[in-house]
Amino acid sequence: MHDDIPTVTLLSGLSIPALGIGTWNMGERPGDASQDIASIRKAIELGMAVVDTAETYADGGSEEIVGTAIKSVRGDVFLVSKVHPANASAQGTIKACERSLRRLGTDHLDLYLLHWRGSYPLEETVDAFEKLKADGKIRDWGVSNFDVDDMEDLFSIPGGKNCAANQVLYNLSRRGPEYDLLPWCQSHGVPIMAYSPIEQGRILSNHELIRIAKAYQATPAQIALAFLLERDGVMPIPKSSNPDRVTENRGASELEISDEDWTALDAEFPPPNSKVPLEMI
Ligand code: NDP
Repeated sequence: MHDDIPTVTLLSGLSIPALGIGTWNMGERPGDASQDIASIRKAIELGMAVVDTAETYADGGSEEIVGTAIKSVRGDVFLVSKVHPANASAQGTIKACERSLRRLGTDHLDLYLLHWRGSYPLEETVDAFEKLKADGKIRDWGVSNFDVDDMEDLFSIPGGKNCAANQVLYNLSRRGPEYDLLPWCQSHGVPIMAYSPIEQGRILSNHELIRIAKAYQATPAQIALAFLLERDGVMPIPKSSNPDRVTENRGASELEISDEDWTALDAEFPPPNSKVPLEMI
């Protein structure tokens, strides 16, 4: 692992990079495959070795792109995929995982997430996750889009406390989780994977973000990612199909932002002062 990249520690004690790469939309257009693959490889080479995908992305196409990208470097990658809630029954979860493994060309996932809470009882999905773990098909499991009440439900069922991560929408313009979900996860040892960490590019034209970025000879995306990296147990997973942007995003971990500029960011993107129900994209 690259020594200078921040890490998060999982319940198992394993430390993994606090910066990864997302792959939503990859695999949708066959003509883009080489750029997608080059970007994922660049991320791994730079130590952003958490690669996030899901069975739903491009109907499995994203997992296939990831499979090609990681073929010769599987051992360097912390591989994450997700089961669609409609598949998250006792048997369905296992079959979905096996399909993902085939598309990814690997014999195990490092982390398998329930994409969002659906109609199958959590007990069923957790039992299936634990079975996949016992069979060596996944190393760990977690959830996504779970708010505090969902996490409390999860922790109240047998095995629920084995949850290794919660992947949620969290960025400068969506600070709701800071009110209760982030502290809850931090106090229960559950890392947050911050998805859409640059709000899919929409926050990058913010004038204050641009002003602060200029002061550090940085880019708005780097400041937005540095904001997340500053927080304990938070791992942003920006998606880019452009290797130069991946390199740019990696640079976020080298920034040291002054207290004065954090205060300026708080003024522009105020933290919540009451409960904000968890948002989803
Ligand atoms: P992001 O906030 O990561 O933004 C991605 C967009 O920003 C892309 O259009 C990308 O374009 C562009 N971009 C990336 N880096 C830069 C940069 N340095 N400067 C300018 N533009 C940039 O959004 P995502 O929604 O993709 O979230 C990240 C990942 O999180 C997903 O890919 C997915 O893996 C996961 N996710 C999970 C969800 C869940 O429900 N669990 C929901 C949504 C996302 P380009 O590729 O052209 O560089």
